[in-house]
Amino acid sequence: MAERVIPLIDQRFAALAARVPAQPLTATGLLSDTLGRPLRDLRISVTDRCNFRCSYCMPKEVFDKDYPYLPHSALLSFEEITRLARQFVAHGVRKIRLTGGEPLLRKNIEILIEQLAALKTVDGEPLDITLTTNGSLLARKAKSLKAAGLQRVTVSLDGLDDAVFRSMNDVDFPVAEVLEGIAAAKDAGLGPIKINMVVKRGTNDHEILPMARHFKNSGHVLRFIEYMDVGATNGWRMDEVLPSADVVKLIHAELPLVQLEPSAPGETAERWGYADANGKHAAHAGEIGVISSVTQAFCGDCNRARLSTEGQLYLCLFATKGHDLKSLLRGGATDEDLASAIGHIWHGRDDRYSQLRSTMAPDTGAGKRRVEMSYIGG
Ligand code: SAM
Ligand code: SF4
Ligand code: SF4
Repeated sequence: MAERVIPLIDQRFAALAARVPAQPLTATGLLSDTLGRPLRDLRISVTDRCNFRCSYCMPKEVFDKDYPYLPHSALLSFEEITRLARQFVAHGVRKIRLTGGEPLLRKNIEILIEQLAALKTVDGEPLDITLTTNGSLLARKAKSLKAAGLQRVTVSLDGLDDAVFRSMNDVDFPVAEVLEGIAAAKDAGLGPIKINMVVKRGTNDHEILPMARHFKNSGHVLRFIEYMDVGATNGWRMDEVLPSADVVKLIHAELPLVQLEPSAPGETAERWGYADANGKHAAHAGEIGVISSVTQAFCGDCNRARLSTEGQLYLCLFATKGHDLKSLLRGGATDEDLASAIGHIWHGRDDRYSQLRSTMAPDTGAGKRRVEMSYIGG
């Protein structure tokens, strides 16, 4: 077996200065990048901390008690996040996802949700506001999140077997409490709920079928995510990736599936519905999704921007550098300046890492280091 390399170097993430272009770039909602991709989806990381230590994201060896998490003063305040979000929305964003780290660890997150829920898209519609969580605090918080204006949640869950789950979160957290959180979210009206399962070959692939059986007919959409080479600390290896095509084949052999149309342009998941006896989609049985970030690039219509906990704008999950919007914000920029700067950055975007992955040398920890998932969110 090849030796696993887990670099112990911190990467306090270098940022590019964001500048206000000489020629103002007014937000019209029609912004597109160099590949003609619009800006529709903004993912905001509200904390770089987490109470889990999933080995594929925040391995214990690196994210230990000495890890230099961001000090509170470095975090964007809720007012700063909302002010930036308003400019993104003016450029065409329709969907905001709160993430992290574990977003429910950010104190009073409900206040931020209230502020974001008051924003309207360029067409005057309410924003689609959602949140990705490990579910550990959901049973306690589902009602207040809904009351604040959150519409939906995505819950990460890597298996139903308690021992497998405890070992994957690596903090011995019981699966029953996450299942309680999912039930509370359903009761609070935070649906349709998506359940994200990262599949690591040899670690939790035997949980694929139990998960599919459990969530069929539940009203929740179970999505299988290929284990990705994000960041530089998880010791990623291609032989631990189980291609989505294999996941579909495995489920289809027991629970027949039919492929469904994508729900929206830029949608990351390929949709498969449970079939009835005639091979048609049985809507009541529900559907699954597969996200093939490694085996099938979907950069062509990637319309997602990511705002890090400390206000850096990332144009790709696999970027090595963000654009420092916080310095602009705190340096007295007007709303027009911020909109111009964001427009200028997106306008120059040419990122398409997944499409190029196979042509690139593997990341050995040397050279440019990719940003961690826990820092910019998924
Ligand atoms: N803590 C929250 C959670 O786990 O849902 C939100 C942040 S987490 C970084 C967002 C998503 O990224 C989760 O669904 C997680 O499973 C996924 N993720 C993290 N590292 C990954 C990796 N190496 N490959 C694929 N997905 C990953
Ligand atoms: Fe925490 Fe989510 Fe990363 Fe797991 S995937 S370590 S829950 S941020
Ligand atoms: Fe988007 Fe980058 Fe992922 Fe491609 S690799 S889909 S550009 S985030």
